[in-house]
Amino acid sequence: MVYLIAGLLAVVIIAFLLFKMGSAFGGLPVLNYHKIGTGKPDFLTVTTGQLREHFDYLNKKGYTTIFISDLLAHIEQKKPLPARPVMITLDDGYRDNYNNLYPLLKEYNIKANIFLVAGFIQAPDDKQVMPNPMGEFMLAEEAIEMSRDQVQFGLHTYAHDSYSRLSLPEIEADLKRTKDRLAELGIPVQPCHAYTFGAYNQQNDDKRLAMFELLRQQGIRLGFRVSNWVDKMPVRNKFFVSRIHVSGLFPFWKFKICVWGYIKIFNRLEKIMK
Ligand SMILES: [Zn+2]
Repeated sequence: MVYLIAGLLAVVIIAFLLFKMGSAFGGLPVLNYHKIGTGKPDFLTVTTGQLREHFDYLNKKGYTTIFISDLLAHIEQKKPLPARPVMITLDDGYRDNYNNLYPLLKEYNIKANIFLVAGFIQAPDDKQVMPNPMGEFMLAEEAIEMSRDQVQFGLHTYAHDSYSRLSLPEIEADLKRTKDRLAELGIPVQPCHAYTFGAYNQQNDDKRLAMFELLRQQGIRLGFRVSNWVDKMPVRNKFFVSRIHVSGLFPFWKFKICVWGYIKIFNRLEKIMK
């Protein structure tokens, strides 16, 4: 009898979690990539071959990729999203996004959103952070070219500092400096920010709320983290929108689980089974 009740309870809990997390139930999967390479894949690098599989899958299954501006219009003006919306995001602004990703975006007619580290963008004035151990970053002119069709941009700090470690005045200064630099380079940006290192891990709730308020004062209207979760629409907290990390180490079937919104459950199960 005890086993039966426990079994039923487990089924109910699993069904509840599946309902809550899945993208099929009014959720918006926001995928998060970094580098797009032509060599070996790794945790932060998805190859062009893998990306072709991803884009092909999204197109064949009837998903529609959306821009940050589409999500903003949905949240702020209740403008409907397409039937199977999915958002592609990339962090940091690597040069390979221009060389390897951009041609594929055009070929597959996919929209992407790139969060730029303003101080890393290569520009004729040579003010960028150099040398940069994180890799090679796109040129300002390349960003401008992409902004004309398949790509929208958002903020991702000035020099990839973690906002969990900065004080509020430091965060404010960083936001201003980031916006000023992008304006100086002539790169159009959406009023949104992606937290570096995936999350804003502030232990103190008051400080977290104060940071959201600071973002609002700085004209930011959307904030993105990485939680491997799918948020239901309308989002509960627009300064804490969930994204799903897509690793180059994932086999294709795991990418599908990401899009369905179940990768967090799956990762947990995998850990338990190990
Ligand atoms: Zn980053």
